[in-house]
Amino acid sequence: MSRVANKTALITGASSGIGRGVAVALAEAGATVGVNHYPSDEERTRAAEVVAEIEAAGGEAAAFPGDVSDAASVDELVDGFEATYGTPDVLVNNAGILRRSRLDEMSVAEWDEVLDVDLRGVFLVTRRVVPGMIDRGSGSVVNVASQLGFKGAAGFTHYCAAKGGVIAFTRALAREVAPDVRVNAIAPGPVETPLLSDISEQWRREKAAELPMERAGRVEDVAPTAVFLASDESSYYTGQTLSPDGGDAMH
Ligand code: NAD
Repeated sequence: MSRVANKTALITGASSGIGRGVAVALAEAGATVGVNHYPSDEERTRAAEVVAEIEAAGGEAAAFPGDVSDAASVDELVDGFEATYGTPDVLVNNAGILRRSRLDEMSVAEWDEVLDVDLRGVFLVTRRVVPGMIDRGSGSVVNVASQLGFKGAAGFTHYCAAKGGVIAFTRALAREVAPDVRVNAIAPGPVETPLLSDISEQWRREKAAELPMERAGRVEDVAPTAVFLASDESSYYTGQTLSPDGGDAMH
């Protein structure tokens, strides 16, 4: 029996990196998958590749455009998913961006850009999906936070504030919607994805070397945690933040 057989899952920002890996892993585990992508031509093409990869492996998936930071765009995204598959059984709030600036150099626009995608986006999509889950009496929300939301890091106050906010949002909402809907988070350490490509090579090397596991994470180190939290195997978990992080949390 597949771990998430007969479940439908919406994954935001699934055209790349961790979201892509989670979409493929959920499909392999038996879920029908909605691959959300930012509404640009580039991301549309990438999302089509993810759908094709899932279909080639015998799974079912479709792409749904939507900017998670924009309420009207989120309505279109969720309307599109629900028209095709109904209220999702699983929502993975994965879409995110990373910027690097020290506070004295940070513009208000950059702060807002990061908070709008990484925190407001989680709120907007969750707010649109969870009422349907409550009406149905079941659902699992998985939020992709970060170790930086616990630890902080110089140069990333906006990102750390957003991810810390996601962890607190997860706990608060878990209390609000239990027992029917479960809300959990994942807090990876550094993972080799395009997100880190704007950060200096030296920073990435130093961070990876500090980890007890002596290497940065890979998407396949993180995706199984999302599948677990999506599945009924985690039916007694809510309000948790699990850390597939190579030991990063111990620092
Ligand atoms: P990535 O850049 O490969 O993927 C991010 C995805 O989000 C992309 O597909 C991008 O198009 C999408 N996205 C960005 N803004 C969007 C918007 N407004 N609407 C819809 N989609 C949007 O990076 P990733 O590393 O796979 O990041 C995925 C998540 O994992 C993010 O939330 C990130 O903060 C988190 N995370 C990453 C790391 C890491 O080291 N890579 C560590 C901890 C947490």
